[in-house]
Amino acid sequence: MDRPAPIVRVAKGIVRVLGMNPGPFTLDGTNTYLVGNGERRLLVDTGDGEQPAYFDMLKECLGGSRIDRILLTHWHADHIGGVRRLLDMPDIVAPDCTVHKCPDEAVDSSEAVAAMLALAKSRNKLRSIADAEVFDAGDGLQLRALFTPGHADDHMAFTVRPPAGELMLLTGDLVLGRGTTVVQDLGPYMDSLHRVLAVRPSALLPGHGPIISGGDAAHPDAVRLIEGYIAHRNMRERQIAAVICGPPPDAPPSPRNGGWRVEEVASVVYPDITDPPVVRAAQNNTRLHLDKLVRDGSAKVSHAAVGDERVDLYAPIGSAF
Ligand SMILES: [Zn+2]
Repeated sequence: MDRPAPIVRVAKGIVRVLGMNPGPFTLDGTNTYLVGNGERRLLVDTGDGEQPAYFDMLKECLGGSRIDRILLTHWHADHIGGVRRLLDMPDIVAPDCTVHKCPDEAVDSSEAVAAMLALAKSRNKLRSIADAEVFDAGDGLQLRALFTPGHADDHMAFTVRPPAGELMLLTGDLVLGRGTTVVQDLGPYMDSLHRVLAVRPSALLPGHGPIISGGDAAHPDAVRLIEGYIAHRNMRERQIAAVICGPPPDAPPSPRNGGWRVEEVASVVYPDITDPPVVRAAQNNTRLHLDKLVRDGSAKVSHAAVGDERVDLYAPIGSAF
């Protein structure tokens, strides 16, 4: 696949600047977005902070203007890692530039996040983002925050509508331009997908991967992609719910009154996967679904010991194998 252009003008007043940090988890790198036309711009996400070429590109895009607000979609290092260096780059960032993030005590107190935001905090520049908060970028450009946890507990997406243009959604890592994102908590994640679907964006500006636009006005590709994410997860949930309705394999711990182990469910649902890291990812995904079924009241989990190992066993509510 061709490398994407590092700088793309998405619409009037919206420029995508690639974080120049490609990798197995970041695809082509983190997409960051400069929003605004005037002397003062907003920046959504900051890359990982390790790529001098990224800061050079920001400077090039800004000309004589400066960033006066940095909005962060979520705490992952490839989105907030650039904050610290940016605050000391007066040719990119205005002296009164503030840094905005959805507060989350557990996330924000972790050592890595606290370190990345320490400078902003010590200079009294760290601000909270509230759900539905509006950020004015001038010239009729407004970003509106949408609390969308699931990929991360503190995740925010932003809608933006260029003047006389159609509604766009900066998705962060809730939805990627290609492939599927990593999910931390599936219940909130599904709620967040429904939330952004209700906005019916005509374009998705993701944190990684290509911009999604096009389709027909009644059913844009952006909407189709979100619907596809939801349908895929729902299909997987039905499949996993069906597997645990059957009798569990005859394997330790026995008797198997408690139900199925995660690994057993995963091997039924993903029969063709053998590569160890992919197997682990499939098992993680299976566990997310099983835990969601438990939280939704459709399944129960019990615990058994196999030697020193504690094993979680999943079964549908009301069953006794
Ligand atoms: Zn992320």
